[in-house]
Amino acid sequence: MEPRTVLLKSELLFKGIKIENIVDGPEQGHFLVQSIENDAIVDSVARKSGAGPAGGFFAQFRDQFQVNVPLQEKMVSRSDLFMNPPPPGGKFQVYKKNDEDVLEEYHRLVKIPTPSFYDDLYLEKELHGVGSGIAFNKIALVHGKNCVATTVNQKCMYWNHGHQCTFCAIEQSIQEGVVQEKTPGQLIAFTERARQENRVAHYTLTSGTQEGPDGGSGEYLPIVEALKDNFKYPIHVQVAPVRDMKYLDRLYYTGVDNVGIHLEVHPESLRKQVCPGKATISLGLFKKNWKYAVDLFGDNQVESYLLVGLGETRNQFEHAVELMLQHEVIPFIVPARPIKNTMLDENHLPSHEVLFEYYKHAGKRMHEQGMRPWKAVAGCVRCGACSAIKEATLAAEKFP
Ligand code: SF4
Repeated sequence: MEPRTVLLKSELLFKGIKIENIVDGPEQGHFLVQSIENDAIVDSVARKSGAGPAGGFFAQFRDQFQVNVPLQEKMVSRSDLFMNPPPPGGKFQVYKKNDEDVLEEYHRLVKIPTPSFYDDLYLEKELHGVGSGIAFNKIALVHGKNCVATTVNQKCMYWNHGHQCTFCAIEQSIQEGVVQEKTPGQLIAFTERARQENRVAHYTLTSGTQEGPDGGSGEYLPIVEALKDNFKYPIHVQVAPVRDMKYLDRLYYTGVDNVGIHLEVHPESLRKQVCPGKATISLGLFKKNWKYAVDLFGDNQVESYLLVGLGETRNQFEHAVELMLQHEVIPFIVPARPIKNTMLDENHLPSHEVLFEYYKHAGKRMHEQGMRPWKAVAGCVRCGACSAIKEATLAAEKFP
């Protein structure tokens, strides 16, 4: 992995791509932008909400990386990258403005196709002939090439009190018709369809935080049990820290392979502003859960999202990386996205080069600590579309 490949992924993650009509300019090799009404196009290709950073679509760069590219207006407002309305699958050209503000051909990417069965209807057995069924894309989505991802419960207790994280869009998807609580039967049916198209190798299951001592982690158990009874694909779940470690034991012994315990934001003063509800969970409890989870799930099988661009300093970012590495947790570094209809208006990092420097630093430290993100068997770290931490660690290994 070359550092410049990590730089390109940082650029795509940070800037996103504007969708417009690109036409030939007066000079050969130069192109012009014709603005089009692109909201409907963006909505049709970008997932609006759900597990992980929404508002993007999935593309592949050579055999180097897959990437979840931001497309929504608020996220791409400062981007100098452009493309035509994307094809359903296959190669497409990305254009970049040069110093004279003229568009030139940049890289080619491949759009990872949308599965063909998304609009088909799932009918519960007992509903045969009754009701209208549920479109498969309201149950789960395929992230990247082969990660089946879903939010098992779209409700989150912090939204009840207006204390939700400022970047979060979890409850909005309910208005868009996404099933609020998924059932094992729905996810088995989704997996069977994804399997027919060779689009499943692992799962990412997430959820809002629920009332009660397990934070809602018990809701995963019947789903994990059913998926493991029917398929052998590894499963990643994302949980809030728990006081009683027996809830982590239960996940492990039911069949969960990999876990995310997400601090989201660091330092603490910033975490309190960005995550007013979730920040009531102490940093000490995160540390206790991380340590226990690493002992239980094994090396490279515990991660924490670390959102960047929320106002942290470089030192604070480095401190966050050390905090996670001290606990042998993979920092899944993701530029915070101002998703439509959330309270977050912009990412404060000045440029994608700064994001690249963040990744470079974290990759070096990961390498030095012997962390191997490509060994994650399931979930966001295995998929890797939303972060360049895996590529940065690979680059640090090759160019120490
Ligand atoms: S890393 Fe992959 S699985 Fe995780 S949210 Fe992003 S696209 Fe989904």
